[in-house]
Amino acid sequence: MSTYAAPLKDMLFAIREIAGLAEVTALPGCEDATPELVGQVLGEAGKFAREVLDPLNRQGDQEGARLVNGAVTAPRGFKDAYRQFTAAGWNALGGRTEYGGQGLPHVVAMPVQEIWNGACLSFCIAPMLTAGVLEALGIHGSPGQKKLYFPRLTSGEWCGTMNLTEPQAGSDLSAVRTRAVPEGDHYRIHGTKIFITWGEHDMAENIVHLVLARTPDAPEGVKGISLFIVPRFLPKADGTPGERNDVRCVSIEHKMGIRATPTCVLAYGDGAGAIGYLVGEENRGLEYMFTMMNHARLGVGIEGVALAERAYQHALEYAKTRVQGREIGQKSGDRVTIIHHPDVRRMLLSMKSQVEAMRALAYFAAALLDKSKHHPEPAGRQRSHALLDLLTPVVKGWCTEQAVEIASTGVQVHGGMGFIEETGAAQYLRDARITTIYEGTTGIQANDLVGRKVGMEKGATALALAAEMQGLASKLTAAGGSLAPISGSYAEGVNALAQATRWIVETFPRDPRAVAAVSVPYLKLCGTVAGGWMMARAALIATAQLKQPDADREFLEAKLATARFYVEHELPKAAALAREVTHGAGSVLAVDPSKL
Ligand SMILES: Cc1cc2nc3c(=O)[nH]c(=O)nc-3n(C[C@H](O)[C@H](O)[C@H](O)COP(=O)(O)OP(=O)(O)OC[C@H]3O[C@@H](n4cnc5c(N)ncnc54)[C@H](O)[C@@H]3O)c2cc1C
Repeated sequence: MSTYAAPLKDMLFAIREIAGLAEVTALPGCEDATPELVGQVLGEAGKFAREVLDPLNRQGDQEGARLVNGAVTAPRGFKDAYRQFTAAGWNALGGRTEYGGQGLPHVVAMPVQEIWNGACLSFCIAPMLTAGVLEALGIHGSPGQKKLYFPRLTSGEWCGTMNLTEPQAGSDLSAVRTRAVPEGDHYRIHGTKIFITWGEHDMAENIVHLVLARTPDAPEGVKGISLFIVPRFLPKADGTPGERNDVRCVSIEHKMGIRATPTCVLAYGDGAGAIGYLVGEENRGLEYMFTMMNHARLGVGIEGVALAERAYQHALEYAKTRVQGREIGQKSGDRVTIIHHPDVRRMLLSMKSQVEAMRALAYFAAALLDKSKHHPEPAGRQRSHALLDLLTPVVKGWCTEQAVEIASTGVQVHGGMGFIEETGAAQYLRDARITTIYEGTTGIQANDLVGRKVGMEKGATALALAAEMQGLASKLTAAGGSLAPISGSYAEGVNALAQATRWIVETFPRDPRAVAAVSVPYLKLCGTVAGGWMMARAALIATAQLKQPDADREFLEAKLATARFYVEHELPKAAALAREVTHGAGSVLAVDPSKL
């Protein structure tokens, strides 16, 4: 069993060089995130993750959460770890300073989240959801709601959850039926929510549910959904938890992965009705919830990066110790560890290079989130916002789909032992499997990408991004040396993306069904090429840094090797994906659903 080690060098390289830490620290309100501080924060987070969270991962998976007489208990060690986590101030890292947070920008907070996820995904979904609640209430909550809930959610004394899903309302939230009946200064909530992550547990003294529900005279569909704060314990006048609200956990799911998280069925209003407080205005709930979901979507993309990294570390350790066979061409002599076999090296390199590309893209998006909030010029905020909007479904959809594949490759590296639970490789695959489903399936992310983000915008942001990527090809050629050979494949990948984007823009207004039929290949194409863009940028930076006398040669040469591998092995997939986009819709739409 390997021990999680935060890949600090690569994380810091991605934060500083690819996401552009200096640009973020130049923004008003982000000045404190100096490179030294970021290095220290990541170092300490890595230590905490290794010592406190990593040991919980396997045990939590085996033990699972338990529901006894309506009370949910997290697996052994979780409650104490959460106490240590909040006491050390980790929950408050990205929180607003006026409520006790440390106000660090997303370009730091997201990498720290990667570290928590890499050590124990089940644990850190709880603080991730709390951060999402803070994000939503920070924008849409009233001053009174912020005053009451922010300090405790920021410190982590209280946890947050998101309550969207109902049995008939999964991807299609217009079908939400939970009712909210006005009563004085509050509402009475009645209904059932399913699949609520950390919906009930014993780690925090209170849980703040953000719940989607309909008021009695609300219009049909998504325009009739409102958002409510429903605390498990109703806060007293002094803010401390008071009377138990009418919400209870009636069951928890038995799951394929993330078994330590309680995934709850919550019954609201079995009695007089759970007391809920409206956020913002009635009927704008889904719009508000999207603030939380967009934040959470990037967070789930980071989960993908983290699990893929963890699977890589685990596979690498195994490959260095498992002895099997001889080097190709050797009939006698010592048997070797499997890392000596070219195909095993190929698998490991494919895992490593993809993780680095995914990480760079996710951190790049995190920096855009900071710029979209803090840029002093409205045009600067708007530009970052548009690019972030485009990349959010890509980070979520692509990084998580990749994570499943990478964790599966990790099992493959282990051979038969990967299929056996004792080695732990299978857990990463099982845990990764949910990431392509919750916070909107890959299909839903892809619909959003081709529809709202590319089609409706007539490709303005996507084509501008492709043009920016194209500009890098000539820089690679000009740089020469080891970069010249990758410039051709890089340019082909970017051209494939531009061509497929033009097809989406042209087809969307006249045949949106055709576009929907190939939306997932398009999302994967965007991710594959954006990943190549990140790796090509990394290669250029590494080449320049290698000329400096104090360069970290080992790290930078390894970066050039993974960049080259990515461009030679991953980027060629772009051409096939682009062809699938431009030529693949017909075969999908030609088949009558009744014939399947
Ligand atoms: C472990 C776990 C934790 C979860 N945590 C939470 C939580 O904390 N809070 C919460 O509110 N929910 C949570 N969920 C619910 C989760 O977000 C939903 O399961 C997810 O959004 C998909 O909805 P569904 O399961 O109803 O699937 P469906 O919507 O029925 O989808 C089934 C299939 O149809 C496809 N599909 C559906 N509609 C479309 C469409 N329009 N276009 C293309 N394809 C489509 C989907 O991509 C999918 O492949 C959780 C779920 C799980 C399993």
